[in-house]
Amino acid sequence: MAHFVILGAGECGARAAFALREKGFDGEITLVGSEPHAPYERPPLSKAGLAGNVDPKFIAAPQTYEAGNIRLMTGVTATGLDAAAHAVTLSDGDRLSYDQLLLATGASARAFPNAPGDSRHIRSLRTHHDAVTLRAVLQPGKRLAVIGGGFIGLEVAATARRLGADVVLLEGLERVLKRGVPEDVAHLVAERHRAEGVDLRCGVSIESLTERDGKAVIRLSNDEVIEADLALVGIGARPNTELADAAGLAIDNGIAVDDRLRTSAADIFAAGDCCSFPLAIYGGRRVRLESWRNAQEQGTLAAANMLGADEPVSAVPWFWSDQYEMTLQITGLADGAVAHLRRDLGEGVFILFHLDAEGRLIAASGIGPGNTVARDIRLAEMLIAARAHPDPAALTARNVKLKTLLAA
Ligand SMILES: Cc1cc2nc3c(=O)[nH]c(=O)nc-3n(C[C@H](O)[C@H](O)[C@H](O)COP(=O)(O)OP(=O)(O)OC[C@H]3O[C@@H](n4cnc5c(N)ncnc54)[C@H](O)[C@@H]3O)c2cc1C
Repeated sequence: MAHFVILGAGECGARAAFALREKGFDGEITLVGSEPHAPYERPPLSKAGLAGNVDPKFIAAPQTYEAGNIRLMTGVTATGLDAAAHAVTLSDGDRLSYDQLLLATGASARAFPNAPGDSRHIRSLRTHHDAVTLRAVLQPGKRLAVIGGGFIGLEVAATARRLGADVVLLEGLERVLKRGVPEDVAHLVAERHRAEGVDLRCGVSIESLTERDGKAVIRLSNDEVIEADLALVGIGARPNTELADAAGLAIDNGIAVDDRLRTSAADIFAAGDCCSFPLAIYGGRRVRLESWRNAQEQGTLAAANMLGADEPVSAVPWFWSDQYEMTLQITGLADGAVAHLRRDLGEGVFILFHLDAEGRLIAASGIGPGNTVARDIRLAEMLIAARAHPDPAALTARNVKLKTLLAA
């Protein structure tokens, strides 16, 4: 009987396992994950889940794996991969032979240079365990220092303010959300945080991050010292490529795959946060995405291709973030845009359309309360997929429905 092995029991790995069964695969499936829990959702860890009781929000009820005849191994890490022998070594001493392998090893939070690694007062946020530690200081009378004005840092800052903790947020660059988010949107987000009482500082240079007397101690290059009950390091993530690298697979800002999610080794696929892949709608440019929907879609696609479907990646990138009552949504890739056209949809609600030099829509970013921008972002995504060159005047005119542009 064929044996398909999936390494990494996160969003992507879990989705791939279920997709294999949904697509009729009746061989053996083994899903191996380092974490002690069945696969769970990560986005709530910085949002509503962090404000609540921090129980893991499971992707599927743990018994679903047994019902689907999926062998789920938790608390077990794959420590070796022999691509020629089609075999994987596990931390519990087991060795698994595979016919097809999927690497869905995700990403890990980047550590702050020279800071204590395993500290109660200096943490990053990637796992349920991290969220539990963080949750303990999110209360009135406690002070949280967030290092990095990216999505995770900002979401945690918003949650911390909701729960009554004091928050100082330190960003090294001149503004928050510098990577992939237009200035107008980032400005609105920053102002909102300040209005909520976050001491948000940009252009700050940190000299050192240490721990002393039960506090995190941040020394800035101007000699100011900031103390906090916990410093949350939110300076990005790096793909988990060690296993693939040691096995000799091609690495290029992640495990390098082709447009079918095939790695450089036979019968090994990679998908989700751990891989970089060529995106045809952007001229085959190689990208690595850290996004929930991408992990799901690539898990499903990898499963199809492990079964021989031979389907290319075609999805348009999409990402969302929740902070306070605001939701930010971004579709496409905005770098390379020369025009940024704004469609106002009401007070504090707008969409920016990003066009390249030929007038092609390549990305759209929207912000507003709840779901206010969701529909238009979805339509923008369809326009991007259709490689449309929409009339700029129609994009900015609120009374022109985007749906009509799609029909055109
Ligand atoms: C706090 C937080 C908030 C987020 N919010 C959003 C959001 O609002 N919107 C959005 O689009 N995205 C969000 N994301 C990103 C999204 O959660 C990720 O893109 C998604 O989880 C990636 O799924 P993945 O399966 O590729 O990787 P992961 O979720 O990282 O899962 C990989 C799993 O593989 C395991 N693993 C690694 N190496 C091995 C090994 N050798 N052996 C066995 N197991 C291994 C890891 O322990 C991990 O459990 C957020 C992420 C975080 C951390």
